Order: sequence, then C-alpha cells, then structure tokens
Amino acid sequence: MSTVLVINSGSSSLKYQLIEMTNESVLASGLIERIGDRGAGSANAQGTRAHGADAQGDGSQGSSAQGAGSQTAGATGSSKHTVTSPGADPQSFTSERPIADHAAAFRVMIEAFETHGPSMKDALPVAIGHRVVHGGKRFFGPTVVTDLVKINIEDLADLAPLHNPASLEGINAAQAAFPSVPQVAVFDTAFHSTLAPAAYTYAIDAKLADKYRVRRYGFHGTSHKFVSEAAAEFLGQPLDALKTIVLHLGNGASACAVDGGRSVDTSMGLTPLEGLVMGTRSGDIDPAVLIHLHRKGGLSFDDLDELLNRKSGLLGLSGRGDMRDVVSAAQAGDEAARVALDVYLHRLKHYVGAYIAELGGVDAIVFTAGVGENSDVVRAGALAGLERLGIRVDDARNAAREHGARRISPDDAPVAVLVIPTNEELEIARQCLTVA
Ligand code: ADP
Repeated sequence: MSTVLVINSGSSSLKYQLIEMTNESVLASGLIERIGDRGAGSANAQGTRAHGADAQGDGSQGSSAQGAGSQTAGATGSSKHTVTSPGADPQSFTSERPIADHAAAFRVMIEAFETHGPSMKDALPVAIGHRVVHGGKRFFGPTVVTDLVKINIEDLADLAPLHNPASLEGINAAQAAFPSVPQVAVFDTAFHSTLAPAAYTYAIDAKLADKYRVRRYGFHGTSHKFVSEAAAEFLGQPLDALKTIVLHLGNGASACAVDGGRSVDTSMGLTPLEGLVMGTRSGDIDPAVLIHLHRKGGLSFDDLDELLNRKSGLLGLSGRGDMRDVVSAAQAGDEAARVALDVYLHRLKHYVGAYIAELGGVDAIVFTAGVGENSDVVRAGALAGLERLGIRVDDARNAAREHGARRISPDDAPVAVLVIPTNEELEIARQCLTVA
C-alpha cells in the first residue's frame, strides 16, 4: 500500500484525506472544526473544496456525507470531528470534545484511523502533503519541508495572515506525529508562477510595489492545474497544444487562462479578493471606492477589509451568499437577487472575453467547484451570446444532473465547454509523489 495523507489546516480547523496512490482511492477523510475553541472554523477563507467520501470531488461530498450512515457521539466539548470512511457503503461519524490545538487534532485523527480504519500500521503515508496558501515568489512547485522552508512560509504570513500561520501549525503537528515521514508543501500560488510580468504587475510605483511584494500571485492554482490537465485528458488532446479557460466557481471564485498547461493569467491578485464576484467578496472594484468610503463614509481600513471580504459579493448585493439561494430567489422574482446574478454573470463573461483575447483563441472552457459543477443557470448565463466566438452550450447536456467530467457543448461546436469536478486533495497527493 502506498498512501499519501493530505492536510489542509485552517486557523481553527484541520481537513484531512488519506489517499491510496496505486489506484488514487480515498481510504479515509475527515474534518476537525473549532480547534482550541477559536471560533466556528471554516478551514480557509480562500475557498478550497471541503472533502468527504467523494474521492472525485464532484461537488457531491455534502450529499454523500448526508447519505452515509451518520452517528453522533456525546457532545462533551466544543471541537467537532467528522470522519468519513468511504467505500460502497460510506459511513460518517461525528463526535464532539475539546481539542486544544493542531497537535491534539493530529492525535484525534490518528485515533480515528485506528477506530474506523485504516490503521497506520498498514497504511503509514509515504508523504504528508500540506496545502499552503501563499508561496510568494519563492515557491513554484511542491517543496519538501525543511526548517528553511518553514521560515519562508512564516515570512510570507504578512501576505496571507490567516492562512500561512495555520499551515505551519499543521506542518509542525504532522512532523511531531510522523517524524519519519517527509512533509511536502503544495502552494496555491505555485501554478501561477509562470505569469509574465505584464500579467502580474500592478501599474503603481514600482519601488513601492517591490518593497511590499505587491503583485498578482493568483490562487486556486492546485485546482486550475488539476482541472486544465483533466480537460486535456478528457478531450484526448496533448496538454501543450491546448488553450483553456478554467472557471473555478466556489465560495471563492477565480478564472485562469492556461496555455499549453501553463497559467498565463488569473483573476485573483495579491490576495484572493480580486477578480470575479464571489459569495461574500466584491472581486474587482475601482480602488478609489475605498478612498471615497474612507473619506466620506468614515470607514476604517478594518471596516473596508470586512466590507470587501465578508459583506460584499452575492451577499452584499442580495442578502444571500449561496448561489443556490440567489438563483431560486431570482427565479421567484426577487429584484436584488436578479441584479446579483446579473453582476456575477457579467463579470464572468468579461473574464472569458479577456482571456480569449490573451490566449489568442480558446479550445476549451471548463467549469469547476461548487457553483461551476452544479449550476446550469450560471454556466448558460456566463456563455450566452458568444456563439460568434464558437462557444455554444447544449441546453439538454447542461441541464442533465450528472456528476463526473462531461461536455456540455454540442459535439460539433468549435470550443469544447466542459464541466470537470476539481479534486485539490488528489492533486496535492500526486504532486507529493513527484518530490517525496
Ligand atoms: P468552497 O469555495 O468553500 O470550497 P465549493 O467549491 O464547495 O466551496 O462551492 C460551494 C458553493 O457552491 C456554495 O456556496 C453554493 O453557492 C454553490 N453550490 C453548490 N451547489 C449548487 C447548486 N446546485 N447550484 C448553485 N450553486 C451551488
């Protein structure tokens, strides 16, 4: 057995997945929340996918967990651990008890492996892969963790203050629990290290930008890489000949232009705030709006941070941050929801057009993540009216409630429009094996 353990640490959470690499199947997965009782934890604000019994990451993990037999142990504390053992009859177990820190969370996870399988005696990982949000300019591929690597991850914390320290906690806990197993850091930014200066440079004072490391880094790179490669495989075409636009639409959302397997542009920037309209984030905005709101509205920088990251996007426009609610309210005639959906689709189309121009044409447009994999309304709306560019969506294919990679354009359309479930955990595990 050759397993890789994939860890996604948030400030108060730990998501894990143990993957058997010979057939890329998930042996166990889980989520520990509210570690140290530091507040209700979401694993990250960047928007990676949660994972459950669904190894394909096809957006059905929520329903598969619900469909699984579920048992809840007595609630004796505040931390919550949900563990799912997949298979033909997936079982999901939830327990609550105090878990002080990430090191304790690791012990709880290992206990769960012993209880629900597989035992670490049989399935000791050959590597442990850690999702790290920010790799700055220093990391452009999976990296075996050394003390120097940890110092660098810490040094980049000012660019990702919520995320990089949490990743380090996870790495330290993993090193303590599995001292003989190589730890590998896989960075969300790494796939975008191929951006040219024209794409990553903001037109501000160059010295100031350099001093404060201000540039476009891009995020969701693990997903964009996985999905663009899966698109080439689905189409049976060589990756290096393919021009692809990937639309990763989850709570966080970003677009990526991929030319021959290399990211050439992406919509998120210095932080995950830039670009598309998201669940609670504004995406693109005239920076003068902030100055105006500060000067005229008296909003502090913390207020603006809160406004743009947590109270904007679909939520700010319509009072609803979940695309399912926005679509159903819009269809029921709610005006604010309709506007929110229109703004969301307008921005998406804007990026599709920009990336077609940058790529000099496009072979495939791929939708992924929660909204992209599930919302036929968003997919059809984003690409409506682009027929003259060879982009068509087949209504019946788009509306079919299917999971797995699929084509939603007619077979004879010049541009393939695809839905491909992302699987960041599997991508991290694969990348681990290239260096560990
Ligand atoms: P995250 O970015 O947190 O990893 P996901 O990729 O899992 O999130 O996407 C979650 C989002 O997907 C939800 O907030 C919801 O808006 C959206 N979503 C899930 N199912 C549907 C659906 N059937 N229709 C529209 N949107 C959906």
